[in-house]
Amino acid sequence: MQQFQQYIDGAFSDGSGQFDSLDPATGAVWARMPDASAEDVNQAVEAADQAFFSPEWAGMTATARGKLLHRLADLIAQNAPRLAELETRDTGKIIRETSAQIAYVAEYYRYYAGLADKIEGAHLPIDKPDMEVWLHREPIGVVAAIVPWNSQLFLSAVKIGPALAAGCTVVLKASEEGPAPMLEFARIFDEAGFPKGVLNIITGGPVAGATLTSHPKVAHVAFTGGPETARHIVRNSAENLASTSLELGGKSPFIVFEDADMESAVNAQVSGIFAATGQSCVAGSRLVVQASIKDAFLARLKEKAEAVIIGAPDDMATEVGPLCTKRQRDVAVGLIERSIAQGAKLVTGGKPIDRDGFFFPPTILDCSDVPDADSLTNEFFGPVLSVTTFETEAEAIAIANDTKFGLASGLFTQNLTRAHRMIRAIRAGIVWVNTYRAVSPIAPFGGHGLSGHGREGGLQAALDYTKIKSVWLRTSDDPIPDPFVMR
Ligand code: NAD
Repeated sequence: MQQFQQYIDGAFSDGSGQFDSLDPATGAVWARMPDASAEDVNQAVEAADQAFFSPEWAGMTATARGKLLHRLADLIAQNAPRLAELETRDTGKIIRETSAQIAYVAEYYRYYAGLADKIEGAHLPIDKPDMEVWLHREPIGVVAAIVPWNSQLFLSAVKIGPALAAGCTVVLKASEEGPAPMLEFARIFDEAGFPKGVLNIITGGPVAGATLTSHPKVAHVAFTGGPETARHIVRNSAENLASTSLELGGKSPFIVFEDADMESAVNAQVSGIFAATGQSCVAGSRLVVQASIKDAFLARLKEKAEAVIIGAPDDMATEVGPLCTKRQRDVAVGLIERSIAQGAKLVTGGKPIDRDGFFFPPTILDCSDVPDADSLTNEFFGPVLSVTTFETEAEAIAIANDTKFGLASGLFTQNLTRAHRMIRAIRAGIVWVNTYRAVSPIAPFGGHGLSGHGREGGLQAALDYTKIKSVWLRTSDDPIPDPFVMR
């Protein structure tokens, strides 16, 4: 059986403990993973702290950091097929998606490689004579990065890339569900030639996570995961007063007006909820469709949902693979049962597929008569679409915004002026108009409310890994006058 290793201070080790990792396509154990103890976490943070102040890293020019990030990007691109295979094996995400996504992860590192020597300070036109005042941008320190199991290479790139570009050091805790791609990534990172301790990669569950996020030497916690865990993280950060950025879940509305291009809207809705087996924070899990086209839209959607190819995640033909864990599948079953008991109508799917592994079919629940159905309010993290209807634009806005989350949203209409009104009215960090599930290193990503705060991707994300130092330099040779008066 394959044994994966953790990466601390430039060295690989089995870790203090180990746990089994399951193949979601079969439910069988396929590998052993290192389980970081509190001691392992402390070592990793110490290594990151020493690296942060080391001449090898702190003394490196920003341009040289950028070159190392470029080298890392090249290595990721070269090794993308191997990383994709591992992610598919350990998380069940289909190879079609992991191959494309990981090849694109290299572009995130390239973007931040290019930004490394463009993070500038500023000179201030200060209101005092004989004084030069300027701002230095400095790296904030040791960053604790915590990622969930879905899209780990992608979700860690938007943390590691800007943090290293800014000159920080990082301890990344991979998810205990499917950490294989991150632990393999550690080997690729090691090859890139960064000084030891600049990035440390461990895995483990809540104990490792809590030790890491409350560690006194951690300056910032970059977290992606669920809102419940985020509450723990924020409480943990009361120990070290670290700043936090939180990328959490969503219950994103997918709004379709009667004038929409139907083929496009149906395809985007399929991608929005059934791609990645619905295990996506930006899943368009609430269809908000104009009542006049509901039946026609649902008929086409049902046809597409039932034609989806469900199969082994490592088969390029597969469109929907297994859920990552049995727990995810059980949550989906429970929520669907409760919603049906509340009055929702099952359009298609709804029951686990009778085969090994954690398979669940594309499911559509018509909740148009049950506005408070559980499936409309709870994040599912599965291929389950809940449908509501509206008559007017104002109703569409009210339904779209009737959520505690605020991550993504989709809008399908051919009416330009309405599109602009809706864009302003929708309360979400991302609005996709006549498209869905598009991402880029150049565009910030994030939400508000229960979807968290802070943005990943884009220029601002690199600045968020810096702090400002104000420098005052007096240019007069005259003695300082009256020492009892503030200058
Ligand atoms: P989770 O919150 O259960 O776990 C996320 C990570 O937190 C894991 O690495 C876990 O080990 C760690 N953790 C658990 N308890 C901890 C503690 N007490 N202290 C510190 N760390 C702790 O999430 P999950 O089930 O793995 O992932 C699904 C969630 O992630 C969904 O809610 C989804 O929407 C969200 N997500 C958000 C985004 C985004 O960018 N907004 C992207 C992907 C996933």
